[in-house]
Amino acid sequence: PEQRGTAMKEQQLTVALRIRPINEAELEEGASIIAHRVGDQMVVLMDPSEDPDDILRANRSREKTFIFDMVFDQKATQEEVYVSTTKSLVEGVISGYNATVFAYGPTGAGKTYTMLGMDCEPGIYIRTLNDLFRALEATSDNMDYIVSMSYLEIYNEVIRDLLNPSSGFLDLREDSRGSIQIAGITEVSTTNAQEIMQLLTKGNKERTQEPTAANETSSRSHAVLQVTVKRMSRVKDITEEVRVGRLFMVDLAGSERAAQTQNRGKRMKEGAHINRSLLALGNCINALSEKGGSRGQYVNFRDSKLTRLLKDSLGGNSRTVMIAHISPASMYFEESRTTLIYAYRAK
Ligand code: ADP
Ligand code: MG
Repeated sequence: PEQRGTAMKEQQLTVALRIRPINEAELEEGASIIAHRVGDQMVVLMDPSEDPDDILRANRSREKTFIFDMVFDQKATQEEVYVSTTKSLVEGVISGYNATVFAYGPTGAGKTYTMLGMDCEPGIYIRTLNDLFRALEATSDNMDYIVSMSYLEIYNEVIRDLLNPSSGFLDLREDSRGSIQIAGITEVSTTNAQEIMQLLTKGNKERTQEPTAANETSSRSHAVLQVTVKRMSRVKDITEEVRVGRLFMVDLAGSERAAQTQNRGKRMKEGAHINRSLLALGNCINALSEKGGSRGQYVNFRDSKLTRLLKDSLGGNSRTVMIAHISPASMYFEESRTTLIYAYRAK
């Protein structure tokens, strides 16, 4: 593998925070805004439940401050979030490096909006693919590039093809070079942005939903868009694969339960109520980001399907971007607090 500059190394893990706009339903419930962006990197979260007198007596503050690489608030556009977090990964993927972008946060905080978005407000998936195709069109080398994408779900440690849901459960395999492949997954190679958006929107509707105690639907599945760029060279009529770059864009399961478990200080444990992949991911990211110790630190990718799939795209020469999401509304104080603590620690 090639050496990279120090500047690149320092940016191996980027953690961003996005605060979505408060909505009508929250306002009607009498919610106030408790999460405020201060400058480009800071967020202040206010505890709406604490009695101001108690706080004065205990000499505590109602406000907690968290610092990230970037903070976006309700005014941030889809374009802005994409350009600041993900756009710069495209070139690396074309050159054969791997990268991963995660949307993290509790259900309803805006993960799917950021990644998939809507027809009129497309998210990171489509913007990345558009830039990728544009960049490949502009390349002037004599190589052939083949781009393919797959869209899958990991739910209860089972992988399903979101572009072909009837195909059943899929297995992870290592190919002869030791890189992870998903056996039998659909690989699409269209360059038509509208067609891609349709495929992904349709695929997203196939995601497994599960009723929560509050009788709402909450997604416990991880949606993974895998984009593979193969660079081929033609030598005397023989086409040879030279490099492969892979980009994973992941709309993670709602973090509410995993966060609760982490709060109690428990390590990953088996159990139907705990999202194994989400906890394993947290452990991997924490291990990778241990200051100065990323090399010696043991990272157990084998703990879950998600981390096995991402093994070659986390750490090492890969770049990782985590975009944590919160609602600014007062009734989600606890979810927002645990999300901020989790994401803050990831740095
Ligand atoms: P999650 O995927 O984290 O469960 P969603 O992305 O589905 O959350 O967002 C919940 C709701 O809030 C959706 O109706 C979505 O359109 C809206 N929403 C989320 N983020 C934004 C945003 N930045 N701007 C406008 N609406 C948003
Ligand atoms: Mg969602």
